[in-house]
Amino acid sequence: MFKKILIANRSEIAVRVIRACREMGIKSVAVYSDADRESRHISMADEAVCIGPGPSKLSYLDQEAVLTAAQMTGADAIHPGYGFLSENADFAEACAKRGIVFIGPPPEASRKLGFKSAGKAVAIAANVPVVPGTQGDVEAGVDIARVAADIGYPVLIKASAGGGGKGMRVVRQASELKPQLEAAAAEAKAAFGDGSVFIEKLLERPRHVEIQIAADKHGEVVAFPERDCTVQRRHQKLVEESPSPALTPDIRRDMQAAAVRLAKSAGYQNVGTVEFLYQDGKFYFIEVNARLQVEHPVTEAVAGVDLMELMIRIAAGERLPFGQERASEIRCHAIEHRINAEDPDNNFMPCPGRIEELELPGGAGVRVDTHAYPGYTIPSYYDSMIAKLIVSAADRPTALRRALRALGELKVRGVKTTAGLHAKIVAHPVFMAGDFDTHFIEKTKLLDKEDAHG
Ligand code: ADP
Repeated sequence: MFKKILIANRSEIAVRVIRACREMGIKSVAVYSDADRESRHISMADEAVCIGPGPSKLSYLDQEAVLTAAQMTGADAIHPGYGFLSENADFAEACAKRGIVFIGPPPEASRKLGFKSAGKAVAIAANVPVVPGTQGDVEAGVDIARVAADIGYPVLIKASAGGGGKGMRVVRQASELKPQLEAAAAEAKAAFGDGSVFIEKLLERPRHVEIQIAADKHGEVVAFPERDCTVQRRHQKLVEESPSPALTPDIRRDMQAAAVRLAKSAGYQNVGTVEFLYQDGKFYFIEVNARLQVEHPVTEAVAGVDLMELMIRIAAGERLPFGQERASEIRCHAIEHRINAEDPDNNFMPCPGRIEELELPGGAGVRVDTHAYPGYTIPSYYDSMIAKLIVSAADRPTALRRALRALGELKVRGVKTTAGLHAKIVAHPVFMAGDFDTHFIEKTKLLDKEDAHG
């Protein structure tokens, strides 16, 4: 087992890794930017190294700075968390070259799956259903009008290198196709340094349902119960729950089997998530997230598993401690709320600044993952999530009541947050009934001041 792990990340996920290290008797090294000097992950880790100024390009994304910090402190492994370098195959390779274990999938597997269009090709080869669309990226010189007409309007243009809902455009008629394609490519180029795009059928009423998998280095792969991440704003997840109120046991089993087939055919190792859209009883692969996700605690609650510990053990070469039957067990119902320092009444404008007062919920079935504390100043350089609230209970109605109770206990003064919006979502009769799609927020008019958006 590793002796010392460096965490190439910040915020709640850095705290999460440090906690796992401590429980496993592994020393932890935090890295931080100048802007994060007050962050809780620094005081919690055994050692901490400043790796640069606030902008992430100059610190958390600076591979050389991270690797030097690992060598300086004698870390034998690096945990990348999510975002930043977590899905960067070149970084994983650079770690290996220096004799440091990257706690994540092998670079060849993330290369195969990192691009959405490449991931779709792997899915097709593994006999996993995908959303109908172009085979690969749109190449120069193809008759795109013909391609889109063959797929059938409405279509969705997506950035291959995409993430966070960026570079995605809905096109409802042929006349909009060319300008939207150009706009999507330009947005993708600016956001990801790569302008490749592909086209697929727009599903009008899908749910987002994803399967967490774990794969060891000995060829074993298991799939856990699904997470339903249908409540979104601008294609970004707000609430995640498990099990999905929409899935039958048969669909769940088929989805899990599809995820395992895909992981095996890509030579995937460590933990990852296979994302699907689900509509009218059918599921369609959309992409793989080759890392641990923000919403992993939902699965930890439902499956009764510590995914962070599992990641570390898999990276150290251990075998999966259980098989598919145990991984499939559903032990409770769990819901996660992403609490962001944003103003829902002002187009979700980020609200960095000082948290004057903070009271966190507690009690039975309540978990809060956060790096924030009273007096903590949220820097303006990074994403605005300040806490994740995860509740679990024996069944969905009880979990909903518990979520409302816990959201009511959460008190943040000094910055605006999305907690109030989460309470409105949970209390909404449509959410309670469980019958909704990815347009839940628009359709229920929970955000009446929201700007119009495709
Ligand atoms: P990103 O990586 O940018 O988050 P994803 O491919 O994961 O993009 O998709 C994010 C969300 O966008 C999905 O959860 C879904 O709400 C919506 N979406 C993606 N593809 C489609 C599609 N073909 N039809 C309808 N909605 C889609």
